[in-house]
Amino acid sequence: MKYITKNAQETQKLGEEFAQQLKGRVIIALYGDLGSGKTTFTQGIARGLGITKRLISPTFVIIRMYSIDESKFGINTFYHIDLYRLTKKEDAAHLGIQEILENQSAVVVIEWAEKLEDLLAGKRWDIKFIYKDLEQREIIIKKRTSS
Ligand code: ADP
Ligand code: MG
Repeated sequence: MKYITKNAQETQKLGEEFAQQLKGRVIIALYGDLGSGKTTFTQGIARGLGITKRLISPTFVIIRMYSIDESKFGINTFYHIDLYRLTKKEDAAHLGIQEILENQSAVVVIEWAEKLEDLLAGKRWDIKFIYKDLEQREIIIKKRTSS
């Protein structure tokens, strides 16, 4: 599906609605340039998963983790990963990203997912962000069922 959002709030809302239709464990790969709206969308996902804590971009720490109410969502953890600063693939191993991707009770969002393409399982959501102008973004959401 292709969407156009006209401001950051609309992108957040789209993320929130997207999260509300998720069922259980899932990997969500985000692609797009700096400032295209990946973190903004992720803030919406977090809200849709009932996370009330403010979501801070993990650009410098690479991974942030949040608890989810398991009785409501069937999963207990939300991982927000930002690979922007990842330079070597080995670093991903040191950070335990493989284990996170294999976690069966987590929703995992990955910004700059192209840096780890070969680690991602076939089954996932691919979401592409395109900067149109100062306030407009094109967002393309695709479900991938095989590699
Ligand atoms: P990324 O994580 O892709 O680098 P961010 O979500 O951190 O991008 O930043 C997007 C920036 O663009 C924010 O400052 C946000 O306020 C602004 N912005 C303006 N319009 C939009 C829009 N339609 N969707 C998302 N962000 C927008
Ligand atoms: Mg970001």
